[in-house]
Amino acid sequence: MALSVVVFDVGETLVDEATTYERWEVEGATEFVFAERDLHADALPCFAALRSRGLRLGAAGNMYAHHEDFLRPHVDFVGSSERWGVEKPDPGFFAHLVEEAGAPAEEILYVGDRVDNDVVPALGAGLHAIRVRRGAHADVESPAGIVTIDSLDELAEAIARA
Ligand SMILES: [Mg+2]
Repeated sequence: MALSVVVFDVGETLVDEATTYERWEVEGATEFVFAERDLHADALPCFAALRSRGLRLGAAGNMYAHHEDFLRPHVDFVGSSERWGVEKPDPGFFAHLVEEAGAPAEEILYVGDRVDNDVVPALGAGLHAIRVRRGAHADVESPAGIVTIDSLDELAEAIARA
């Protein structure tokens, strides 16, 4: 893959949703906003590994626009279905993503946990895609030919292999 940009889905891919929802319940949260502590432990080290390889980074998912804020310090651009007015798996979501990335679709890798919402529509939009198999949809099998990893610790190597 001759990549220049790697874009991450947010829910389950970067954010540990089960732990986050539990925290909100325990704390009796009235404002539901993701924070840096909700990131999976492998997220920030993965960003660093990819940056050291000269890649630009983005994060974009089906989420409220206010969830963009905690990601902004860590990546070059962020996007949300609420701000863009279109949700995955709609091709329009990936059109916004390509525009924000400022690179041709074939230079962009989208990393997500879902086959139906992330990998398949990203490939359909002409991007590369890798699946990280975890979270609520971990039991879904990846179709043949889909590069699948169990942790973002494996991502840099998976890119090099692909
Ligand atoms: Mg997700």
